[in-house]
Amino acid sequence: MTLKANAQQVFDKVSQACQAAGVPESSVKVIAVTKYVDSSITKELIDAGATDLGENRVDRFLEKKTQLKDEHVKWHFIGSLQRRKVKDVINEVDYFHALDSLKLAAEIQKRANRPIKCFIQVNISKEESKHGFQVEELELVLPELATYTNIELVGLMTMAPFDADPTTIKAIFDQTEALRQTIQHQGWANMPMTELSMGMSQDYPLAIAAGATYVRIGTAFFK
Ligand SMILES: *Cc1c(COP(=O)(O)O)cnc(C)c1O
Repeated sequence: MTLKANAQQVFDKVSQACQAAGVPESSVKVIAVTKYVDSSITKELIDAGATDLGENRVDRFLEKKTQLKDEHVKWHFIGSLQRRKVKDVINEVDYFHALDSLKLAAEIQKRANRPIKCFIQVNISKEESKHGFQVEELELVLPELATYTNIELVGLMTMAPFDADPTTIKAIFDQTEALRQTIQHQGWANMPMTELSMGMSQDYPLAIAAGATYVRIGTAFFK
């Protein structure tokens, strides 16, 4: 299929998932993960309706943002970020999805020139290969994050195991949404915690059913 047809199919599937979940379409944003393609294909995707772009590598993020500087899109950094690269990229992002350690938070606090919208990455599935805080850690981590004036914690981000069955994936997404609500109700000043970044090409309908507000979709656009 053409890129445009793929994009239409993704957007249609997202709106169907929203209807099924009983949420307005405007409550779910699609982040087009463009890490697989160059700027010209990314531009085609913007023309096909993409409003939010996601990249997971600092060099490619910066390159694309420069090449596509005239486009009115939001820029999401979705990959794990090494501390030494924070200064290169953090002031260029609209959203950072992978806050996964206190050391990284301290570096962001130091380098940011404004409060940066961040998602706390949580390792709900407890896979060793996955980044993110363990749920049990958060009790100690949140009071520390609450002291960082240059970090605005807009929500949680998680990734489901690649090969899990739908029931397991649903349970992980439901748990993430419950955790988001718990933190939101704690009422920390820099933690609006209204957003949930979860769902990729394989599982985004399940994520929307569980309350995702940002889905990060790559492969489905380019197959
Ligand atoms: C690559 C990537 C995605 C998109 O995955 P697809 O399976 O290609 O849709 C989403 N989130 C993160 C963090 C990624 O690195």
